[in-house]
Amino acid sequence: MAHRVLCPKILQSLRNSTTTPLLRTSTTTLYSAAVLPPLTVSPLSLHETPNPDPITPTPLSSPPPQSSTSMTGPVEAARTAAKLWDSGLKGMLVYALEHAADNESCDWNLDAFLKTVESIKSLATCSVSSTVVKITAICPLRLLRRVSDLLRWEYNNNQSFQLPWKLNTLPVFSDSSPFYHTPIKPDPLTPEEESDLHLAQQRMLKLCQKCVEVGVPLLVDAEDTSVQPGIDYFTYSAALMHNKGDNPIIYGTIQTYLKDARERLFLAAREAERMGVPIGFKLVRGAYMSSERELAASLGVESPIHNTIHQTHACFNDCASFMLEKIANGSGAVVLATHNIESGNKAAAKATDLGIKKGNEKLQFAQLYGMADALSFGLRNAGFQVSKYMPFGPVERIMPYLLRRAEENRGLLCASTLDRQLLRKELMRRLKVAIF
Ligand SMILES: Cc1cc2nc3c(=O)[nH]c(=O)nc-3n(C[C@H](O)[C@H](O)[C@H](O)COP(=O)(O)OP(=O)(O)OC[C@H]3O[C@@H](n4cnc5c(N)ncnc54)[C@H](O)[C@@H]3O)c2cc1C
Repeated sequence: MAHRVLCPKILQSLRNSTTTPLLRTSTTTLYSAAVLPPLTVSPLSLHETPNPDPITPTPLSSPPPQSSTSMTGPVEAARTAAKLWDSGLKGMLVYALEHAADNESCDWNLDAFLKTVESIKSLATCSVSSTVVKITAICPLRLLRRVSDLLRWEYNNNQSFQLPWKLNTLPVFSDSSPFYHTPIKPDPLTPEEESDLHLAQQRMLKLCQKCVEVGVPLLVDAEDTSVQPGIDYFTYSAALMHNKGDNPIIYGTIQTYLKDARERLFLAAREAERMGVPIGFKLVRGAYMSSERELAASLGVESPIHNTIHQTHACFNDCASFMLEKIANGSGAVVLATHNIESGNKAAAKATDLGIKKGNEKLQFAQLYGMADALSFGLRNAGFQVSKYMPFGPVERIMPYLLRRAEENRGLLCASTLDRQLLRKELMRRLKVAIF
């Protein structure tokens, strides 16, 4: 129903805003993404579509760099963001790295993230709204699991369990959080693990300092619930150190398909407010639904994901509403990362009702690059800040990331039908105009 009301407006936006080559590329990539076999269905692989149009960005189509330290990826991505800027959108630079196994890979990944942030400096415009990191790229995955286990145990046995390495942070659990990942008391960190944790914290510190120096916000992606407590711990401890003044520079991510999402968001935001620290969140529905449900089923426990998609939609809209009220009251910032037209529309209407000024940088909308262009342009034409999430990187490094996204996001691409219909309709209209 909501789509029927919005389509004419969105078509109008496509009509007024999008170049024909961009429309053609988006249509082709969405069609191929929806019909090709799993390896090519990741939103990320959309960028691998051969693209003869020189003005259309193609971050992932860049050839692998000559050496592992090549700057080719970040610099090209930054240039692509600058081109995106011409159409009124900003870029979120995402070096697509995750799941590091050891300190050596973490160091390589940190270097890539630092170069990404550095590349933003060279841009004349403020065409990059933020940069993105996955904590599993800078802290070995096994260690992040151990930290998450220890945090869960501490939460449930507060009095008797001490974590000597723990930094000041915000709440990462609520009583409704899933605790089944940690059925028995975990051993304390070994001296070697403590030293590795210190190294990981130092990497996060360096990345945050670089973001502060360049003045670009750092968005920390959410991953799966086995490691999310550790990710939130890294994020919030960094936010307490670096978020100063009015504008947060470190943002966490809340996955609203989780049953405990609302409570965790409210608790963290309330505590940050009490401490006088500005806090920013990216809100998403969540991209690990199949693996989360499979794990819960295999353990015979309740799934952490909302039982119905309507509950997920309601949770996303409630969390968005909560953060919009915070912005209207002068605290907090939010990135509403969604392709859902109804959620976009609701948030835009609420922001207008609350008197949030259109150019206010504390409210951003974001969609994956190559997807939901109609929604992006519709929101931008309404005066909101809109960014495109632009993953990039040398293929040999990011292939595991691509495969994981492809596996989990088939549903997302099937859901792009409306996008494809709208794009095709506008292309047909332009063709008719050109012919007759
Ligand atoms: C800019 C950006 C950043 C992102 N960052 C992250 C991130 O850090 N971490 C992360 O996990 N994901 C991230 N995502 C992906 C995101 O979580 C979603 O997978 C994706 O955006 C689809 O959700 P949507 O809001 O666009 O909504 P829609 O287009 O409405 O899609 C809804 C989808 O939600 C799924 N779903 C959710 N809950 C249920 C349920 N209870 N029952 C059935 N189906 C359900 C279905 O697969 C459905 O296709 C990001 C997305 C964007 C655009």
